[in-house]
Amino acid sequence: MHELSLCQAILGTVDARAAGRPVRRVDVRIGHLRQVVPDSLQFSWQMLTEGTEYGDCELVVEHVPAVVHCAACDVDTTLDWPILACAACEGFDVELRSGEELQIASIDIAQEVR
Ligand SMILES: [Zn+2]
Repeated sequence: MHELSLCQAILGTVDARAAGRPVRRVDVRIGHLRQVVPDSLQFSWQMLTEGTEYGDCELVVEHVPAVVHCAACDVDTTLDWPILACAACEGFDVELRSGEELQIASIDIAQEVR
């Protein structure tokens, strides 16, 4: 299950960054070409965090569309299928502009209350 291993990786990074401090929210940016199913990702996140110190931590996913630049038309078009081609002329002389993102955008760590 792709989403579960992804969540484990996210959680590992968050855990290292938080260093024991409570985390309220994690924002991730995931490109279209990663073919991540948002529902599965949320489900995996819940499964992994339930009953842990991250049980109340919200996972917020920003979906980044796959955009290619076509050398022939000189336009940027958005892909909605996993084939790298221009949506205007269907040519393959394209360069990927976005869609491969897989990054943690921000981690909201609560201030320690003493
Ligand atoms: Zn084109």
